[in-house]
Amino acid sequence: MPVFAEHKMREPLLEVKDLVKSFTLKKTGFFQPPRFVYAVSGVSFSLDKGKTLGMVGESGCGKTTAGRAILRLVEPTSGEINFEGQNVARFSEHRLKQFRRNAQMIFQDPFASLNPRMTVADIVGEPLLVHGMGPKGERADRVAAVLEKVGLEPACMRRFPHEFSGGQRQRIGIARVLTLNPALIIADEPVSALDVSIQAQIINLMVRLQDELGLSYLFISHDLAVVEHICERVAIMYLGKIVEIAPAENIYHRPQHPYTRSLLSAIPIPDPRKKIARTLLQGDLPSPVDPPSGCTFRTRCPKAQKICREQVPEMVEVEPGHFAACHLL
Ligand code: SF4
Repeated sequence: MPVFAEHKMREPLLEVKDLVKSFTLKKTGFFQPPRFVYAVSGVSFSLDKGKTLGMVGESGCGKTTAGRAILRLVEPTSGEINFEGQNVARFSEHRLKQFRRNAQMIFQDPFASLNPRMTVADIVGEPLLVHGMGPKGERADRVAAVLEKVGLEPACMRRFPHEFSGGQRQRIGIARVLTLNPALIIADEPVSALDVSIQAQIINLMVRLQDELGLSYLFISHDLAVVEHICERVAIMYLGKIVEIAPAENIYHRPQHPYTRSLLSAIPIPDPRKKIARTLLQGDLPSPVDPPSGCTFRTRCPKAQKICREQVPEMVEVEPGHFAACHLL
């Protein structure tokens, strides 16, 4: 399975090859053979140092599971995850702990992900403690420094999460992952719980931090509008698979897959006088327990044909660095 990369000559920071994560379904009868549900099914991509890849799809398409499997927060069923050229899937417990210093995750709900009984100083300093880094005095200095980096006063260190707004809580979440100076951040819907005006502030903060610290982001979102200003490349996921991956410019201006076109159609246009032809998605995401045959998007695709029911479409390169899986290409 090829890795759908933009720069084939440069070694990427992260390279994911044919990643699969399945879960075993509960048996309903004694003699029933085991059944599996594939949350992630053969996902491949690469991410260069200092760049951002957006991973976009509806809720339940497997993007969060893919992110968690990359960090081995859930164990992948199969596939390769190469970080700086080394296969994460084969790391020992000790090496895995070292890897997690370098690769961190930001969660969707900044309130749920912060312990309400801990002060900001304890929350942000906790990763240093877990990884046994620095004496207490140095840890406090590091916490103050990262809080300043994310636009919070060091004076807030003694306060608790409930004393902050949603945007400030997400800043605390970002400060916590920065304490260990990671190279890769997997941001799982980091702004979807926030107001639109605050979303822009957090995205601008992430862009600034990327410029200053050379961070790489895997930015997971259900909304193509959100990732537009932060991603160099975008991967579109449907029912556990990447169906299109390309430079952001191509995705927004020359989308090839009918699903990508539907997602773009759903983006609101600020000027109500402008009329555009929309291809709105019909129906819900099918259950991954019993996915449609052939192209899994066929039950909702306005262009579906007989072949779509019978054959799984292969990824094809429609222009340099732009891949999509559809029989019509
Ligand atoms: Fe639609 Fe067929 Fe293309 Fe799938 S392969 S996206 S069903 S046209």
